[in-house]
Amino acid sequence: MNSRTYDAIVLGAGPAGEVVAGRLAEGGWKVAIVEKDLVGGECSYYSCMPSKALLRPADVLGEAQRIPGVPVGDDAALDPAAVLARRDQVIHHADDSGQLPWLEEHGIDLYRGAGRFVGEGRVEVGDATLVASRAVIIATGSGAAMPPIDGLDSVRTWNNRDATTAKKVPASMVVLGGGPVGSELSQAWASLGTKVTLVDAGEHLLGRDEPYAGEEVAAALRGRFGIDVRLGTEVESVRAGGAGVIVDLKGGGAAEGEELLVAVGRKPHTEDIGLEAIGVEPDDGGFLEVDDRMRVGGRDGLFAIGDVNGRALFTHNGKYQAWIVAENLLGRGVSAIAEGFGSPRVTFTDPQVAAVGKTLAKAEEAGIDARVVEVPTDGSPGASFQGKGTGGKSRLIVDRQTDTIVGANFTGFETADFLQAATLAIVAEVPLARLRHAIAPYPTRSEVWLKLLEKWEAGED
Ligand SMILES: Cc1cc2nc3c(=O)[nH]c(=O)nc-3n(C[C@H](O)[C@H](O)[C@H](O)COP(=O)(O)OP(=O)(O)OC[C@H]3O[C@@H](n4cnc5c(N)ncnc54)[C@H](O)[C@@H]3O)c2cc1C
Repeated sequence: MNSRTYDAIVLGAGPAGEVVAGRLAEGGWKVAIVEKDLVGGECSYYSCMPSKALLRPADVLGEAQRIPGVPVGDDAALDPAAVLARRDQVIHHADDSGQLPWLEEHGIDLYRGAGRFVGEGRVEVGDATLVASRAVIIATGSGAAMPPIDGLDSVRTWNNRDATTAKKVPASMVVLGGGPVGSELSQAWASLGTKVTLVDAGEHLLGRDEPYAGEEVAAALRGRFGIDVRLGTEVESVRAGGAGVIVDLKGGGAAEGEELLVAVGRKPHTEDIGLEAIGVEPDDGGFLEVDDRMRVGGRDGLFAIGDVNGRALFTHNGKYQAWIVAENLLGRGVSAIAEGFGSPRVTFTDPQVAAVGKTLAKAEEAGIDARVVEVPTDGSPGASFQGKGTGGKSRLIVDRQTDTIVGANFTGFETADFLQAATLAIVAEVPLARLRHAIAPYPTRSEVWLKLLEKWEAGED
C-alpha cells in the first residue's frame, strides 16, 4: 500500500475543508485534501449556489413589476428553461475542474475517494494511506436527514440535491419542512410553475427566527406564489399514488404531489469515516462535538469544522471555523466568539429574512433586560426606489443595561445586506450612542439603520 506523509490531512473539500487547506498551505504546510464527490462541496453544487440561482429570477421579476415604466406586465412569468440553464451555469454543470488550479497553485494534493480513519493521524483513501504528522481536520459536511415516517422509504423522494439540480419542472410537489431549505425551495419551484404544498408541524415557518418573520414568509408564499402552506400539520404516513406520492396527514386529509421533497434537517457525514479506529464517538445526532478551537475531544491534532460539528449549519460558519483552526495550527491562538444560535442567517425567500444574534424570546430566556426597537423596512427614502411597498419589519433587540444590540431581524425585500452592520455592532459590542454616529448614505435603504437609531433615541414607547 502506497503511504504518504503530510503536515495536515483535510477530509472533505467543501467550503470549510477548502478554506482550512488553503490557509494551512499558505502558512507553508504540506496538505492533502480528500474528496469523495466534487471539490467545492454541497454548497457549490447542491445547496447554497443552485438554490440562490433558482430564487433570484422571481426577486427580479417582482421588483420589475413594482416599478412603473419597466415594460414587464403583471402577468409576466419566468422562463423555466432559461432559469434552469442559468442554474446549471452557476453550478458549473457539476464539474469541479475549475477548482483544481487553485489547489495546484497552493501545492495541495487532492485525493479523490471516500476517506476513512485507520488509526490516529492515518486516513485511507483508495489504495493510499495518508499519514498526518500534525493534524487531521474533519470537514465531511452533512446530507439531508430522513425522518422515521411510515412508508417514506417505499416512495421516491427528493432531497436537496434532487431539488437543486432537477432538469425539469414538476407539475406538483409536496414539501416536508418549513425551515429555510423547505421555504426557499418551495418558493423556487412555485415560481417556475410547480403547484406546491408545504407541510410543517410548527406554528410558524422558520421556527428559529422571530415569529413575525415566519408569518410574513407564509403570507408571501400563499399570496404571490400560490403555495398551499399547511402549518401545525403532522404527517401520518406516505404512500405511492395519485400524481406520484400521497402524504396522509394526522387528523385527516392528505397532500399529493408528483414529487416529495424532504427538508426536515441534516445528518452529518460521520457514519462511514472510521471514527471507531480513533476512539471518537459522535453525539446522538451524529455530530462531532468540538470546543471553541474546533478540537474534537480536546485533542490537539484532531479538528471538526463546518456542518459536521453541528454548531451552525452555514457555509459562513464553516469558513469562520476553518480560519480558527488554521490560526491555531499556525501558532496564532484564537477561539470562536461569534458562533452557535446567534450566527448570521439569511433565508432568501421574497421577503428575505436576515437575522443575527438573539430573537426576543432567546434574549428573554437568557435573562437579558431586552428592549425591542422596530421600524418598517420599506420606510426609508431609499425604499421609494427599491422594494417599494414591500413592507417588512426591521427589529433590533437591545440590552437595556448596556445599550448594545444583542439581536437583529430584518424582513422584506433583499434585506440580507442590512445584516452585516448588525453583526459588526453585536460582535464589537458597540454602544448605540456611538453607533448613532454611523451615517447612512441618502437615499439608500441603509437608512433603515437611521430610522432604527432614531427610534431607539426617542426612548421607550
Ligand atoms: C438547499 C440548501 C441551501 C443552503 N443555502 C445556504 C446559503 O445560502 N448560505 C449558507 O451559508 N449555507 C447554506 N446552506 C448550508 C450549506 O450548504 C452548508 O452549511 C455548507 O455546505 C457546509 O459546508 P461544509 O464544508 O461543512 O460541508 P459540505 O459542503 O457538505 O462539504 C463536505 C464535503 O465532504 C465530502 N465528504 C464527505 N464524506 C467524505 C469522506 N468520507 N471522504 C471524502 N470526502 C467526504 C462531501 O462529498 C462534500 O463535498 C444550504 C443548505 C441547503 C441544504
